[in-house]
Amino acid sequence: MLKYLNVKTTQRTELINITSQVQKEITEADMEQGACYVFVPHTTAGVTINEGADPSVQTDMLAIFSRLVPKDPQYRHAEGNSDAHAKSSMVGASLFVPVHEGKLILGTWQAIFFAEFDGPRHRRVAVKLISG
Ligand code: ZN
Repeated sequence: MLKYLNVKTTQRTELINITSQVQKEITEADMEQGACYVFVPHTTAGVTINEGADPSVQTDMLAIFSRLVPKDPQYRHAEGNSDAHAKSSMVGASLFVPVHEGKLILGTWQAIFFAEFDGPRHRRVAVKLISG
């Protein structure tokens, strides 16, 4: 079972909590046990799990990524978004979350974030449910 989430980003860099959208796919599919594979089919975005309670964590993480990978006019890629490509690889394009009794098994403070590094854009996230 494969579904796509649509994510509309509004900033160049942004973390968007997609936990409830992913959970909705599991609930609608009536999947009790298994795993959820979340995949981002983009080269300047990614997906990550981190704290969803305090929005300052997201702000700080974006600041840290920007400090680690500044925009640099000396990068060769003509599109001018090499920093976004690098951040995408740092975060990664996919993750697995176990599902138990119809719920994502996330820690109390954990949330699934779509990571935008070259927005604003319309993005897609593939959600593959693996029952078992
Ligand atoms: Zn590019």
